[in-house]
Amino acid sequence: SSLRELLLSRIRDVPDYPKPGVMFKDITPLLADPAAFGALTDALASLCVRLEADKVVGLEARGFILAAPAAAKAQIGFVPVRKAGKLPGSTLRQGYELEYGTAEIEVHSDAFAPGDRVLVIDDVLATGGTAEASLDLVRRAGAEVAGVAVLMELGFLAGRTRLAPALAGAPLEAL
Ligand code: IMP
Repeated sequence: SSLRELLLSRIRDVPDYPKPGVMFKDITPLLADPAAFGALTDALASLCVRLEADKVVGLEARGFILAAPAAAKAQIGFVPVRKAGKLPGSTLRQGYELEYGTAEIEVHSDAFAPGDRVLVIDDVLATGGTAEASLDLVRRAGAEVAGVAVLMELGFLAGRTRLAPALAGAPLEAL
């Protein structure tokens, strides 16, 4: 589609970042273009409506940039999922495996009303570990998973396959 072409044209490939052999997908040109950024956040807001989401979760840090305007446009609330130790209130914490080592993310325990339908948004789905952990957190916090939306899916890393059990039938949309 033309949205897809527009978005692709505003993503920059940076070789050997953050380490040799990695091709980093840089979204800063997209964020700097109001037509592309507006079209992306409109599409994410439409998805919120279509999936009847009550809340949008953004995954730190680039997920925040996409999820917050989508939530505002859809007129629903935004909830940050942060790296461990950044949220001031009572939190739930979830660990997950990285390529080397482990990481932990957190959400406020009272972020959701019981049964809230939640759309999780991030910029890039790579191995799927971050998104998978976020879905566990959403459910532990008493909410339902409406779906996951990412700007970009790195298909060769098979994140979609890893995420399938945690999605439990909810959609994964890669714009
Ligand atoms: P995963 O947990 O392996 O799926 O990695 C996803 C997380 O790493 C997301 O929060 C992304 O922001 C980040 N990430 C991985 N690869 C890239 C990339 O090429 N560009 C931007 N972010 C990336």
